[in-house]
Amino acid sequence: MAASGDPTRPWPEEVAVVVVGSCMTDLVSLTSRLPKTGETIHGRKFFIGFGGKGANQCVQAARLGAKTSLVCKVGKDSFGNDYIENLKQNGISTEFTYQTNDAATGAASIIVNNEGQNIIVIVAGANLLLNTDDLKEAANVISRAKVMICQLEITPATSLEALTMAHSNGVKTLFNPAPAIADLDPQFYSLSDVFCCNESEAEILTGLMVGSPEDAGKAALILLQRGCHVVVITLGAAGCVTLSQKEPVPKHIPTETVKAVDTTGAGDSFVGALAFYLAYYPSLSFEEMLKRSNFIASVSVQTAGTQSSYPYKKDLPPTLF
Ligand code: ATP
Repeated sequence: MAASGDPTRPWPEEVAVVVVGSCMTDLVSLTSRLPKTGETIHGRKFFIGFGGKGANQCVQAARLGAKTSLVCKVGKDSFGNDYIENLKQNGISTEFTYQTNDAATGAASIIVNNEGQNIIVIVAGANLLLNTDDLKEAANVISRAKVMICQLEITPATSLEALTMAHSNGVKTLFNPAPAIADLDPQFYSLSDVFCCNESEAEILTGLMVGSPEDAGKAALILLQRGCHVVVITLGAAGCVTLSQKEPVPKHIPTETVKAVDTTGAGDSFVGALAFYLAYYPSLSFEEMLKRSNFIASVSVQTAGTQSSYPYKKDLPPTLF
């Protein structure tokens, strides 16, 4: 159950960005090399990080100044308690952050060697228990926000239901099909006002190779034809490509050249920033929103970590606001 669960209670108007998605605790061991099967090795450093695409995107939007709420599920365990505290510290409403005894908080066990290669095991745990009843309880916030974001780290049926709820109430939907599934339910496309994925997700979804802005334009056109209103494909250091039903000609939006230290979570920083602009600066051109989201994500790659690398409004140029 959420901390307070009265579905009839009017939700304060000010929640502008609602995220229905995942929380994961990252358990990271840094080692000189990856262990072989059956082998035990000593690592040189261990740390715990806050991750999960839903939470990451929500944290970035919140740090830019958005009033946010995260609809998600964690375990009734120490990782879950710590995660809720982390959301609160980021100013995110946890009213619909549910805790369950039936599964552990989602966790990613990550081993990274000196070359930056990694092996990762993700156990989605409580994330997969976010269900219809939870969405009904959060209906006020989902149907009254300006923008709703979701991804695929929770059960696809739950994401689809959240998108349907938001879309039918005129809330702008920003869908990030990550991790991608090849046979995505076609309804995801028609329910997406903005469909935003990275190169590899675009490849899985379309079957095309995406290695350049030109390729991305071709993939984006296929995704657009499946019914999205706007498609954005992010291209790492090359920025992003977009096209829309109104302007079905691909447009490449390059980004800053920066010294990347750690690009983990850059895509989530970008999506969170885009949601912020859609909610708070609806009169900006979409191209300008993408330029600014590119910039914010480019700041995130210049510092190590995922959420820890996401910039706050106070650290960014005032021209972005
Ligand atoms: P991740 O999976 O690491 O979270 P992603 O693959 O989903 O990231 P990318 O396409 O790599 O997402 O990056 C998202 C956005 O971040 C890009 O569109 C760009 O704005 C910014 N970005 C990523 N890498 C760089 C870089 N090396 N230099 C500048 N900007 C970058």
